[in-house]
Amino acid sequence: MAKYCPVCGSSNVEWVLPQTWSKWHCKDCGYIGALIIEDGELAKEIRKDWEKKHKK
Ligand SMILES: [Zn+2]
Repeated sequence: MAKYCPVCGSSNVEWVLPQTWSKWHCKDCGYIGALIIEDGELAKEIRKDWEKKHKK
């Protein structure tokens, strides 16, 4: 199942360390934390908001 960043909605997330699987790192926005989103629809909404905020 795909995982998404709760901050920016990116699927470009990975474990900080494979041993500490409870923490995620988003390579797009730098988010590090235990919370991760598995709902693709929700991620799309977050992504839209995030892009709006970060577009010049
Ligand atoms: Zn992110």
